[in-house]
Amino acid sequence: QRHRYEKAADLKAVTLDGQELRVTVNIFSAEDLNKADWDLIDGVGLYRSDFLYLSGKDYPSEAQLFRAYKSAAEKAKGRDVVISAFDIGGDKCADYMQLPKEENPFLGKRAIRICLERPDLFCIQLRAVLKASAYGRVKLLLPMVSGTDEVKQTRHLLYRVMKQLKKENVHFDEHLPVGVMIETPAAVITSDVLAKTADFFSIGSNDLTQFVLAADRLNPQVEKLYDVCSPSVLRSIALVVRNAQKHKIPVSICGEAAGDTELIPLWAALRINELSVLPCDAAQVKYHVRQMHCNGIRASLDEVLCCTSADDVRRLLKKFSQ
Ligand code: PEP
Ligand code: MG
Repeated sequence: QRHRYEKAADLKAVTLDGQELRVTVNIFSAEDLNKADWDLIDGVGLYRSDFLYLSGKDYPSEAQLFRAYKSAAEKAKGRDVVISAFDIGGDKCADYMQLPKEENPFLGKRAIRICLERPDLFCIQLRAVLKASAYGRVKLLLPMVSGTDEVKQTRHLLYRVMKQLKKENVHFDEHLPVGVMIETPAAVITSDVLAKTADFFSIGSNDLTQFVLAADRLNPQVEKLYDVCSPSVLRSIALVVRNAQKHKIPVSICGEAAGDTELIPLWAALRINELSVLPCDAAQVKYHVRQMHCNGIRASLDEVLCCTSADDVRRLLKKFSQ
């Protein structure tokens, strides 16, 4: 089976009816980066900085972050490396951070909210990302955005850091692309406005599913509700894609749904530009893309989005793929 996936893995992922999907990987650790098969992938769609923050006894220094990001940029050899601003808080925090205990940590102080409340910490990360951008195609991704102001504030900090770096004669990409991770209903609803300030979107389907359905992704009591195929989640994704296309910015999926082979024809039909998947799934995803048609689903998108349940959506998708 594995051999079958790997046979044509270095070819582009294009459906039989001509829709191309870029296939990138989510990086969770330095080891993932060493194991990545660069001949097979179009880059790193989500470099999770969290492990750099969660593995030590104190905040990582600018030098540590820079070393890690530079290494990723160099290994990617001109392919994209999308670095996420630290997505800590929620279920991910280290003792040294001394974050307050919260009743609903997933809805609390986390990710971009901490970044903007602690610009001293955030600017260290921004400096490291910018410095690494001199060594490859680095992009910055902002997690848990719930409004345009958060993007504007980030850009403001970014310009401040750029000014400092210029004074220090440090090279960096002055046009560093800044993307928004779409994972809150607020970001979906305002995606038309966000698309004007963001250079790209990446749909965090894990959190988006939990927030659209108000179903805790870690709570087995609501496990049945938590389904990315729910028409409400799919309609959210379709709206985000439409707004991204209207403003001519690319859109990817970086949650687990990106690697779900049952759903890939739907992502192709929606004209999602990129799927960022686990490194171990990349060959399989490319193989499936190359075996499928998506025009049938595209012609029936309304029917898919008008299904009344996630099960109906899956049944319909199966019918199209037969
Ligand atoms: C997501 O929410 O889909 C995502 C990619 O990030 P995480 O699972 O770390 O929240
Ligand atoms: Mg998330």
